[in-house]
Amino acid sequence: MSIEINCLCGEIKATIKGKPIAQVYCHCDDCQAAFGGAYVGLALYPTESVTITEGTPTVWTYKSNPRRICNKCGTIVFTQPEGAYFRGINQTLLPQDLFKASCHIQCQHSILPVIDDLPHYTGFPASFGGSDEVMDW
Ligand SMILES: [Zn+2]
Ligand SMILES: [Zn+2]
Repeated sequence: MSIEINCLCGEIKATIKGKPIAQVYCHCDDCQAAFGGAYVGLALYPTESVTITEGTPTVWTYKSNPRRICNKCGTIVFTQPEGAYFRGINQTLLPQDLFKASCHIQCQHSILPVIDDLPHYTGFPASFGGSDEVMDW
């Protein structure tokens, strides 16, 4: 399976192949600052699955995580923490029916607790090298 995504103005286009490693809601303070929201939906794909096919995004780091953004419209196309083997695609760029989060991560930073049936990890799940500890929401 392959999908095409683009930034809001269409300057940057990318192709994503295969399935995501994970789909999460991230509550970290870096996503809060970068996206200007309480949390953000990210689909994490292996780095090699995401190819920029048009345009040259700028590497932009607001606090800690480098993000690739469009120079023209400011869309954050993806986030790739230093040394990470994945690229986190902004949920809003994906086809609507594709994004289904399996958990909330980095809830220690949450400014808006979300009550739902998903696990709310304080940091990261064990499958991402975390402690699996969850919030008491
Ligand atoms: Zn753009
Ligand atoms: Zn985050």
